[in-house]
Amino acid sequence: ASRAPLLDRGADFPILSRQVQGRRLVYLDNGATTQKPAAVIDAERQFYEQSNANIHRGVHWLSQHATDLYEQGREQVRQLLNAARHEEIVFTRGTTEAINLVACSWGQSALKQGDEIVLTGMEHHSNIVPWQLLCERSGAVLRVVPVTDSGELDLDEYRALLGPRTRLVCVAHISNALGTINPIAEIVRLAHEAGAKVLVDGAQAVAHQAVDVQALGCDFYVFSGHKLYGPTGIGALYARYDVLNGMPPWQGGGDMIHTVSFERSTYADVPQRFEAGTPNIAGVIGLDAAIRYVREVGLEAIAAHEQSLLAMATAELQALPGVRLIGTAAHKAGILSFVVDGIHPHDLGTILDMEGVAIRAGHHCAMPLMTRFGIPGTARASLALYNTQEDVDALMAGLRKAQKLFGTGRKDD
Ligand code: PMP
Repeated sequence: ASRAPLLDRGADFPILSRQVQGRRLVYLDNGATTQKPAAVIDAERQFYEQSNANIHRGVHWLSQHATDLYEQGREQVRQLLNAARHEEIVFTRGTTEAINLVACSWGQSALKQGDEIVLTGMEHHSNIVPWQLLCERSGAVLRVVPVTDSGELDLDEYRALLGPRTRLVCVAHISNALGTINPIAEIVRLAHEAGAKVLVDGAQAVAHQAVDVQALGCDFYVFSGHKLYGPTGIGALYARYDVLNGMPPWQGGGDMIHTVSFERSTYADVPQRFEAGTPNIAGVIGLDAAIRYVREVGLEAIAAHEQSLLAMATAELQALPGVRLIGTAAHKAGILSFVVDGIHPHDLGTILDMEGVAIRAGHHCAMPLMTRFGIPGTARASLALYNTQEDVDALMAGLRKAQKLFGTGRKDD
């Protein structure tokens, strides 16, 4: 196989030229957050240098200009997700806040005692806990789709869980802990047949493959900018217009009202109804730049690059004695979650760190999934568009070194 990278964009990311622990930074913790290209960093600085004003309120030129930039960001997200209308996009702090928005607004008004929410055994805590809180308030109950040994959803069990009381299905597009790409269109079709809505957690998906919410058919889709080469503190909720338009406000304040009196307030149209207060304007500008960057590189090219690295890394990991991959689904994104005999994931992370290799070790905010596999956690290497074969080589060399230190792995090493 050729070692020539399909993509060679590392130079776009200033941080990748720094050293850590006296070594070249090998950044393989992209599932936690991605690094930022200069285009994103420059866009935020330029906004503050040239365009900063509050939005949606000033009559002055600069406020109008900032408002235009902010609304361009909304249009950019609409295009990324192929939503039908820009009013279907609500800016939030990220995935977590977007899920809480749906749980508090739609959930609180739509769910009654005995209603059912179906979620899956591979959800991130942010797609579990808001629903538990909602169940405590509404009397609804959770049902959980089991995960198979290969880290896929058991679709027969899913079908069996759907019933007349199912109101909502919550599912990760791509699992942050396993890399499994879930069959969302099929999951949505079955949920809609049962009369339930579907929320898709796209936190691990939008940076790694093209997403089309109309083709998926989902009612809600959420993601975070910081996992998409954008800034922290900004993300988005997509909600189908008819659904969003029927939802009550969840946070009150400026910018989300039509009229206010002490007797009664009336609320703004969507999406402003869900954007109370001064939003993260610079974050939207940075997110806009990040999406432009990703679309310019091309999501198909990014997916092909990451898939080729994933295939190589998977083969090399599986050839190492004492290493077990957790998550071997047929459809996987660039996430390698594994355990190594005789070495705790945290020790592995520390030894790799001394080699300049940044991975994540632990439960990845998916404790029920770790329980399902009977392990406290895994080591996780997660890929992004700037990773290279050299990065995979560094990971493998670090693993062999750790095994040598612990006296495990191949005896003749
Ligand atoms: N869902 C998944 C699948 C994730 O990977 C993450 C982040 N690790 C989240 C939700 C939460 O995202 P955030 O912390 O940006 O709100």
